[in-house]
Amino acid sequence: MKISKNVLPSIYRCKICGAYLERPIHCGAPCDLLLDGQRRLMLSKLLSALLRHIPHEIGISLDKDGWVSIKELVTAIKQRWKNKELYNWLTEEHVIAVAMLDPKGRFEIKDDYIRAKYGHSIHVNISLPEDNEVQILYHGTQLRNLKSILSEGIKPMKRVKVHLTKSIEEAMENALRKGRAPVILVIDANELRQHGHKVFKAGKNVYVTDYVPPLCIKRVITPQVK
Ligand SMILES: [Zn+2]
Repeated sequence: MKISKNVLPSIYRCKICGAYLERPIHCGAPCDLLLDGQRRLMLSKLLSALLRHIPHEIGISLDKDGWVSIKELVTAIKQRWKNKELYNWLTEEHVIAVAMLDPKGRFEIKDDYIRAKYGHSIHVNISLPEDNEVQILYHGTQLRNLKSILSEGIKPMKRVKVHLTKSIEEAMENALRKGRAPVILVIDANELRQHGHKVFKAGKNVYVTDYVPPLCIKRVITPQVK
């Protein structure tokens, strides 16, 4: 199982066509460096936090569908974020490039607005497409939660929806983020649907549902961690 390290590639901008890229050459010419990997990761984490959980901490409010103006967002980060001194370089273009190249498809951009596509703890109306194709889904958690999950199922907890992934590697990453005793649950998506729990596609590999009953959990994998 390949676990990606907590580092993102730098983002470049093509001098000829203006595209945002993760490599330094395009259109036969060297590109400008727009954002190094460390700043990119920092900004990506901040955008996730603000657009999913804590917009009020910079005095912005999302509309009922989760959107906020990119211009308003950037101004608020630079004026009101508690670590605003780390973002004196920030422009709207950085936000757009981070959102467009997000490896998990966490963000959506429309006109001059941005929103998180999933993962909210605050209530927003996001109409995700219902999925009827995926068969097997995974959920990463910690051993300490296993007993209650196997008796009560997977509940949304602090989030609005239960988050599942079709990538076992991503499930492992999620599990490791929560502690040192990872457990991966293997879920039968067809059984979820049969029991009335619709499955929606949220990100590239991320799917959400309202609840996973214990009988839809088919297998428990407990990987050995070095
Ligand atoms: Zn180009």
